[in-house]
Amino acid sequence: MSVEQVAPRPTQNKTLLNGDEYRASLRDGRRVIDANGREIEDVTQHPALKRGIDSLASTFDDQFDPAKRDVLTYVDEETGERYGRGWKVPRTVEDLQMRRELIRYTTYETFGVFGRPPDYCPQNHLGLLTIIDKLEAQNPAWVENVHDFVKWGRENNVLSADVVADVQSDRNIPVAQKPGRLRCVEERDGGLVLYGAKPCASLAAQAHIGTIRTVLTPGADPDATLFCAVPVNAPGLTLVLREPVAELSNREDHPLGARGEEADGMLIFDHVYIPPERVFSFRRTEMQGLYHQLGALALSHVLTRLSYRAEIFAGTAQLVAEVLGTTAIPQVRDAISEITAYAATLRAFTIASEQEARMHNGVMVPADTFVTPGRLYSVEHYPRIMQLLRDMSGQGLISRFTSAQFDHDEIGAKLEEFLPGTGVSARAKNQLFNFVWDLTSSSHAMRVALFENVNSTPPAAMRHHLYQAFDRSEWTQAVREFAGVDEVKER
Ligand SMILES: Cc1cc2nc3c(=O)[nH]c(=O)nc-3n(C[C@H](O)[C@H](O)[C@H](O)COP(=O)(O)OP(=O)(O)OC[C@H]3O[C@@H](n4cnc5c(N)ncnc54)[C@H](O)[C@@H]3O)c2cc1C
Repeated sequence: MSVEQVAPRPTQNKTLLNGDEYRASLRDGRRVIDANGREIEDVTQHPALKRGIDSLASTFDDQFDPAKRDVLTYVDEETGERYGRGWKVPRTVEDLQMRRELIRYTTYETFGVFGRPPDYCPQNHLGLLTIIDKLEAQNPAWVENVHDFVKWGRENNVLSADVVADVQSDRNIPVAQKPGRLRCVEERDGGLVLYGAKPCASLAAQAHIGTIRTVLTPGADPDATLFCAVPVNAPGLTLVLREPVAELSNREDHPLGARGEEADGMLIFDHVYIPPERVFSFRRTEMQGLYHQLGALALSHVLTRLSYRAEIFAGTAQLVAEVLGTTAIPQVRDAISEITAYAATLRAFTIASEQEARMHNGVMVPADTFVTPGRLYSVEHYPRIMQLLRDMSGQGLISRFTSAQFDHDEIGAKLEEFLPGTGVSARAKNQLFNFVWDLTSSSHAMRVALFENVNSTPPAAMRHHLYQAFDRSEWTQAVREFAGVDEVKER
């Protein structure tokens, strides 16, 4: 399969897709199996995928909106063309700040429930540039492939899924013998033939390609140490979707759910051919330890998105208290303060990581010393923040009624009479709690919570990384000297 066959081919603009072009680009013969075990003919029309695709399509359309275009896109100095800003290689702290504005936009646009919005996807591709010296030492052809891939992605407004984790199976089987592990079973015409599976792949059904990286598989054998890209419509590739969780209905009953979800699914590779130009590294087991270096831009995106989600949580807390008339209760104020502090703390981590950013192979990379502690803090406190929002809401989360019930002549009138909020009608108050339900308590909310917890490694792995990566020697020495530990040792 040639590279051209999988390019989404923008038409209205040479380098930017609009929403309809994005939808059309997904009708590419991909093989996707839904939760009913049926093959999906057109992902853009399937109930489990359509609304999520429509939400993403609106962010593609926004690239052409004069009021938003300079946040969402940029003009490249060399080519004079306009590209999605997510593809801009950050060279300065100011570039990182502009990127933060972009993340702010996509987070507020989707209320942060899409962990892989269009601006996230390029971050892992640009991550390859941050380790280009390592690839240079391995194989100069792979360096060329990376540059071509980034150029291609940028010129075609490509959307990609992260394909990293391994399928869960009996841990007693050695990693290098696991039956489901994705590995190369044949080298053909300079390319690789892959067999096995990869789990979860969020967004894959709604994206163009998957980027495969073997960075979370200690003990992987050389044939399973892969860094490459695969088009979602590659022959031999099947995507098996999990059951949908977003509560669709209408915007009044499910303000968040109605906008769809990011679908997760398992990718089954049955002898999928990866052409040589899409291989970035293979059989180089030393690459397995590069998770944090390779993913630095993506991980900082995760932190930044959560910092804006935290603002949304604080805004929600304030509105719940105002609508219930509980703002004067000291304990309610304490809860709002705690959520506000969560938001401010995540913002501080984000800004500090930008200020302490360093150049890696010509790419300005936010400081891991703030990104990882910030991410750890964000996921450790996330369940508590959700619980505070639920607690503040009281019966509001359950004493909710549908728009059909409000439209009922007799019952609707009674609901309006009995349930008014502070300064708002019963129906408006009801709609707020529909939103809070979607945000904190629905199946979709739990899927997002699970995503936040393990997306880019679970807390245990973050703590492990922090222990190893953080240099505490100066602090330790200061304590050693102050406490006279060396003197005690010598005596
Ligand atoms: C909603 C959702 C979306 C996801 N999307 C993607 C995606 O787009 N792309 C992708 O690649 N992956 C994705 N994942 C998968 C995610 O990357 C993994 O779940 C995560 O890396 C943990 O790996 P695992 O599930 O295989 O856990 P396992 O290795 O099976 O471990 C299970 C649990 O055991 C504990 N544990 C295991 N090993 C250790 C250890 N060494 N130290 C301490 N505790 C340990 C942890 O609590 C861990 O969560 C997604 C997961 C979810 C839930």
